[in-house]
Amino acid sequence: MKHFLTFLLPLLFIIACNTKEKSGSMTITESIKKQALDSLLNRHGEINRYRIEKGVKQVASLWQKEDGNADDFITFCTENFIADSSQLETLFLKISRNMEILSGNFTRMSLQLREPLDLEQGPIAPVDLIFGAYNPASHLSDDFFKNKLNFHILLNFPAFTLAEKLEQGSGWNRRQWAYAATGNIVKSREPAELQQKLSDVATAAETYISEYNIYMGTLVNNNMQSLFPVDKKLISHWGLRDELKANYNVPGGFEKQKMIFALMNRIINQEIPAKVINTNQYQWNPFTNKIYEGTREISSNREEDVRYQHILNYYKLFRQQDAYYPQYPTVIARAFEMNTQIPRETVEELFKKILSSKEVRETGRLIEKRLGRKLEPFDIWYNGFRSDGTLQEAELDRITLSKYPTINAFKNDLPAILVKLGFDKEKAAYLTSRITVDPARGSGHATGALMRGDVAHLRTRFTDKGMNYKGYNIAIHEFGHNVEQTISLYDVDYYMLNGVPNTAFTEALAFLFQERDLELLGFNKNSEEQEALSVLNILWNSYEIMGVALVDDALWEWLYNHPDAQAADVRDAVTTIAKEIWNKYYADVFGVKDQVILAIYSHMISYPLYLHSYPLGHIIQFQLKDFLKNKDFGKEIERIYSIGSITPEAWMLNAVGNPLSVDPLLKASSEALKKF
Ligand SMILES: [Zn+2]
Repeated sequence: MKHFLTFLLPLLFIIACNTKEKSGSMTITESIKKQALDSLLNRHGEINRYRIEKGVKQVASLWQKEDGNADDFITFCTENFIADSSQLETLFLKISRNMEILSGNFTRMSLQLREPLDLEQGPIAPVDLIFGAYNPASHLSDDFFKNKLNFHILLNFPAFTLAEKLEQGSGWNRRQWAYAATGNIVKSREPAELQQKLSDVATAAETYISEYNIYMGTLVNNNMQSLFPVDKKLISHWGLRDELKANYNVPGGFEKQKMIFALMNRIINQEIPAKVINTNQYQWNPFTNKIYEGTREISSNREEDVRYQHILNYYKLFRQQDAYYPQYPTVIARAFEMNTQIPRETVEELFKKILSSKEVRETGRLIEKRLGRKLEPFDIWYNGFRSDGTLQEAELDRITLSKYPTINAFKNDLPAILVKLGFDKEKAAYLTSRITVDPARGSGHATGALMRGDVAHLRTRFTDKGMNYKGYNIAIHEFGHNVEQTISLYDVDYYMLNGVPNTAFTEALAFLFQERDLELLGFNKNSEEQEALSVLNILWNSYEIMGVALVDDALWEWLYNHPDAQAADVRDAVTTIAKEIWNKYYADVFGVKDQVILAIYSHMISYPLYLHSYPLGHIIQFQLKDFLKNKDFGKEIERIYSIGSITPEAWMLNAVGNPLSVDPLLKASSEALKKF
């Protein structure tokens, strides 16, 4: 969820708070622009034409009536454009320093205000919620238009589109990348009321999803038998999917899986009776779609396309936002070009290579063999590629609880963990002195600092007795994030380039840490067979979620092509698209056509256009892993994560010498398949 908020509010600096009536935008005509341009060309010469043209255009695009009249605009441009390179460097350094002060302190303030909500600190008081939701940065963008700071940035630092960066970036030095990042600070002048409306729509969608529970004990089969315990309540889709996964190799599990699958189809097609959502009052047979009070069948109305209405609500708001992002005029462009920074076609090409690979098909046949039956559509969630289970969770709990009875025991061990992973002692001490450990209320998360001098926070769950294995496993994942956050803040040469290209890049390091959690506890490295199983597990998971992401993307394209669609049309479009993608990439593996199961993900409803980020993390993980073989892990991780936030393509070329590629994952899969 944290990542998704980043997507809604792409940069601290563009959060606007302009609640006044929208004054006339686009007040600067072509002829006024030309006057400013001529005046600047006169003063600074043709040699500066490129920057002058871009600067004047950028200022004009966001200049509004309240910023001044035409003369004010021309005067502002003429007086504040900087041609001299050393003066420009001074401006850059000042912006950079002050952005670090602002975002660093705002981040720290928010984090501290949220402590009663995020940390295990006893009951939450109503004022904790108010302080926790307060955003101290919410007026920043408005203030920076008022005092014209944003116009100084727009005038002097050209913003580059993703296409321009991909074309020109290979020839840039680090300073040019840092200047380009400065040019991206001001992306929009979106009115605060729109941000507020979007936040309301998001909250409504999240609430709808978080209350979409199914009481499993109320489900009956054709013999009126219920298969699940009375008190089992599962949230769609995560809880349903995990229950389905947990029923492999369990007596009676197959029947339960078929029931969950039938239920999921009813949700997607919106045939599910409204009366069975989030209540345990009736019995429901998801195969026949009949509901009962006791044993008496009663009438029922379906849930009227509510699911798809939420998507439509988002769509309407996104369309209103479009006008404020001249460089990224659709939410699809914002998701891929502004946030992920990889063109949609490139992402989808990578996915399609996996989706149509022979490795996936061979893995499907292997699963069939392991299951001893034909594949069912829900076997996209097959989870039998896990280690042989020689290590029981209870035994692992015993180990971690005795090793880490307190938070300090875990914190004090962090340097040793880094040394075991391959960092030298000095670097391990340097990194861990910038990471602190807090007891989380929820399952765990990692929050990085945004100014040097501040620390990254590793939040994880401690029980009264200490850290259980589940908490430990998550903590090692989060620790990977913290190490990335620390290197990419402290060791990047320009503050404006701090961070990583997108969330998939930090996930990749978190996965690399997490997969070695047992080794860190002193167990032997994964055996070859365990390693092979884990590769196939990731391949199969990627196969599943890549199709899901394609459905999400295609739906948004469809919405833009059907601006007058109603909720029922969206429902039909979702099922049609899901079937098309199934028929193209899954039907041959599963031996059945026209399935809609790829549309079950709740992210589609509450976090649109985020799903493609998940498999990208695994693609990068495999590329890094392949590259790191027989290399100094610590030194290379340090080098790679100090590249900072440039385009994913340039980052990968710097990191491993190749662009993003699924070949390492396919190669590892093909080798793994040979073992079975
Ligand atoms: Zn993570």
